[in-house]
Amino acid sequence: MIDNVFSKADVADFKMWMEWAGRFVIVTHISPDGDAVGSSLALYHYLAGKGKSVSVITPNSMPDFLSWLPEADNVISYKEQSELANKVMQDADVVCCLDFNVPYRIGDVEKIMLQSKAKKILIDHHLYPGDFCDLVLSRPDASSTAELVFQFICALGDYSEVNNQIATCIYTGMMTDTGGFTYNSNHARIYHIISFLLKKNIDKDAIYRNVFNNYSESRLRLMGYVLHKKMKVFPEMSAALITLSDQELRAHNYQKGDTEGFVNLPLQIKGVKFSVFLREDVEENIIKASLRSVGDVPSNVFASTYFNGGGHKNASGGEIHNSLKAAELLFYKGMEEWSNSDDESIKELFKKS
Ligand code: 5GP
Ligand code: MN
Repeated sequence: MIDNVFSKADVADFKMWMEWAGRFVIVTHISPDGDAVGSSLALYHYLAGKGKSVSVITPNSMPDFLSWLPEADNVISYKEQSELANKVMQDADVVCCLDFNVPYRIGDVEKIMLQSKAKKILIDHHLYPGDFCDLVLSRPDASSTAELVFQFICALGDYSEVNNQIATCIYTGMMTDTGGFTYNSNHARIYHIISFLLKKNIDKDAIYRNVFNNYSESRLRLMGYVLHKKMKVFPEMSAALITLSDQELRAHNYQKGDTEGFVNLPLQIKGVKFSVFLREDVEENIIKASLRSVGDVPSNVFASTYFNGGGHKNASGGEIHNSLKAAELLFYKGMEEWSNSDDESIKELFKKS
């Protein structure tokens, strides 16, 4: 049916945990995206269906475009409900770490997660998993963690327990981490899994609308401003840069999640293979960097070299504790250094297409 991408021993270990453990906590990365929340809620529904007490903790709140997901309002945001989060983490028998590879990606939850005596499992698709869990199910070739959660439930022999809610959450994660199946989505396995999700009566068209056609007027106007005034294109470098200051965001009535996907926009321009978006985040006191690339151009290398970050080859991110101007200068420095690089894939970026 569905390929088993996990070892029998790992699956057997988790099955054993499910026999004795009653209290599960699921934790995912800061500024959770569709895959973080989708994979977490899918596992939440599965474990709850097994009669377990389950809590999902996110380091900060999720964007509005995910709040329609089934039971999204039960998710505990550490930033808003730290006492409750501390309590469930303290009581947990098993902690499931989803959609992140290293503990710092869960922000302030890192400390209580590492302190917890619970058994820990990592299910993730980022490169270079850290060594902080008893079971490490890291599959960087997967397009999303949601895809892995589905395969894991199947490996546990419970495809029949995948209900419409679980399937909806899984599909949301798969869809969002591939930009609606427009990148990182060439593997036949993805569509094989989707065919099974459709059998659970998911409404994939409604899911698409809920996520991608549900924005505020302000977001669209901010997007217009970005495209008209803020997008810098460097054709000789096949690259583009967008920056947004806090002042600009406030002038457009910015709500969390409003800039989601902006980094992809310049890739619609013929010849642009690398795009960077820098956003001033006064709440977190950082400049958040989002990076996207096409083909072999390693955006994650740029993210780790210049923005203290990482991620996937074509979709990565990072942050710096400095001004927006300083972040912009890092972009130029990186471009300068890349244009003199010996790396073939990087040279490719500077070839005229
Ligand atoms: P986004 O641009 O959507 O925020 O992030 C895209 C991807 O980049 C994420 O799925 C994650 O893999 C990675 N990423 C984003 N921010 C960071 C960061 O601060 N540090 C690291 N290591 N990876 C990040
Ligand atoms: Mn993901």
